[in-house]
Amino acid sequence: VLRARAVSKTYGDREVLKAVDLEVLAGEMLAITGPSGSGKSTLLHCLATIVQPDAGEITFGGLQLSRLAEARRSEMRRTCFGIMFQFGQLVPELSAAENVALPLLLRGMRRGEAIARATAVLDRFGVAEFAPARPSALSGGQAQRVAMARAVATDPTILFADEPTGALDSNSGARVLDELVALARAGTAVVMVTHDPAAASRADRVVELRDGMLEAPA
Ligand code: ATP
Ligand code: MG
Repeated sequence: VLRARAVSKTYGDREVLKAVDLEVLAGEMLAITGPSGSGKSTLLHCLATIVQPDAGEITFGGLQLSRLAEARRSEMRRTCFGIMFQFGQLVPELSAAENVALPLLLRGMRRGEAIARATAVLDRFGVAEFAPARPSALSGGQAQRVAMARAVATDPTILFADEPTGALDSNSGARVLDELVALARAGTAVVMVTHDPAAASRADRVVELRDGMLEAPA
């Protein structure tokens, strides 16, 4: 469904991505691994069109995303992509339910309906009881499940997850992974960046970033 061709990105004099080719298939769970600083987050952000590559092409459903106006691109992002960021992603001033409702409100859903749907998605990930809670009152694993609920509230084609288990102990990490695998089995493509071998072992396919290039892992 998503294809990256010869995607390059340079920050200053550092070539972070060197002509990366990558294809994401419908409903697969793909893990991107690699050492810290190898460009995993940068690649994920390019795929999700949050960061504009210097060169190369991202194609989604036959559309060349870089050729689209930013307004169209952000519209696509809102309707087709869900994103779990590596760091601090929930809005601290909002409750868990309001956080999850946010992307629905942005799509024009009425508030009551958005909160109802948000609560249902929280329930699906086992954190409905925290709907009224602020993010600061949640454990790492609970917060990550709320972030996952927000990322999939709009029922995206692809979920991008940057180190979804990075800050979690192995138990809550395993629960988050179970949910990600379930999403993939239900047809959502999951692109996960991780340095956690336990997480990578749950993926259908693993690719490794090294020196700005993708390789099959050793
Ligand atoms: P980690 O495993 O630690 O999360 P990563 O593989 O996700 O690392 P990136 O965050 O993609 O790595 O960063 C790759 C390189 O690009 C790093 O050297 C980083 O300093 C640099 N970089 C990333 N984003 C920017 C930016 N916005 N401006 C300048 N340099 C950046
Ligand atoms: Mg990163």
